[in-house]
Amino acid sequence: MACIFCDIVDGRAPASRVLDEPDLIAFMDIYPWRPGHVLVVPRVHAVRVDELPPAAAAALLGAGARIAAALRAGPLPCDDVHYLVNDGPAAAQTVPHVHLHVVPRVRGDLWRLGARLVQQPVRRALGAVPREILDRQAEALRAGLPRPNAP
Ligand SMILES: [Zn+2]
Repeated sequence: MACIFCDIVDGRAPASRVLDEPDLIAFMDIYPWRPGHVLVVPRVHAVRVDELPPAAAAALLGAGARIAAALRAGPLPCDDVHYLVNDGPAAAQTVPHVHLHVVPRVRGDLWRLGARLVQQPVRRALGAVPREILDRQAEALRAGLPRPNAP
């Protein structure tokens, strides 16, 4: 079955990678809800969280928390983050491979987030964020990542 996230995991499709670990990878969303929006994706293909090996499921949130720390420390605006998993097609999952969204938020930005979500179909039609911008953002986040076992 063709799966764009499996293609990214295996290096057959490009991505601006933030993390590359045994259980998962993380990369910049090409249609970000807010600048700095990262997707954390388990290496194993599964549509829903309950289909993942428990260790792979647990690793998602730990990685997300490290990315959140890097977002807060990095150059893009970020006070806090949303962690979001759309767990199956009836829950608005658009790529049928488990992924954790880590979306930077800034106090008072609700209207910007809402406008961005309403504009998503148009943004998708216009094309992805240029790769060089996503690569720069990923590089900044990698530089700000805490070590895996740091408190
Ligand atoms: Zn997949």
